[in-house]
Amino acid sequence: MRAVVFERYGEPAEVREVPDPRPADHGVVVRVEATGLCRSDWHGWMGHDPDISLPHVPGHELAGVVEETGARVTRWSRGDRVTVPFVCGCGSCPSCAAGDHQVCERQTQPGFTHWGSFAQYVALDHADVNLVAIPGDLSYATAAGLGCRFATAFRAVVQQGRVAAGSGWPCTGAAGWACPR
Ligand SMILES: [Zn+2]
Ligand SMILES: [Zn+2]
Repeated sequence: MRAVVFERYGEPAEVREVPDPRPADHGVVVRVEATGLCRSDWHGWMGHDPDISLPHVPGHELAGVVEETGARVTRWSRGDRVTVPFVCGCGSCPSCAAGDHQVCERQTQPGFTHWGSFAQYVALDHADVNLVAIPGDLSYATAAGLGCRFATAFRAVVQQGRVAAGSGWPCTGAAGWACPR
């Protein structure tokens, strides 16, 4: 596949051919249809994130289509339109059991702990826990922004700022997106 790769922190990245990702038995590979860019990508590129090892493919705000599923994945099939909160929980630790997938001690993050979505394909772990279906009338570009910037801001406003508690904001209940109320 083609992907954006950097070999050294803070130096120009380039588009090149790299091996296609393979799904873990609990994971999927998604064909990327849209991917966002945020300051966390800059931190990663500058070498501020110890989870990154070089060479690296960034990208954590993504939406796309399931291309391949691992043997243990039961909820998703090839062709499903999906996005993810960029922090992917393991689904089985105490934090995940409490609904706090975003602080899972075994979390994975595309674009940080492994290669991300500045590529044709991206591998996502624990797919049954982390993937979120995209409604048919929601564009890939819009969906790609939900996991990082919307969910992060939502929790900041509702839980930390306590601004919207009780306002009836919709809660999906999916991994990492859980309603704080
Ligand atoms: Zn982001
Ligand atoms: Zn966990």
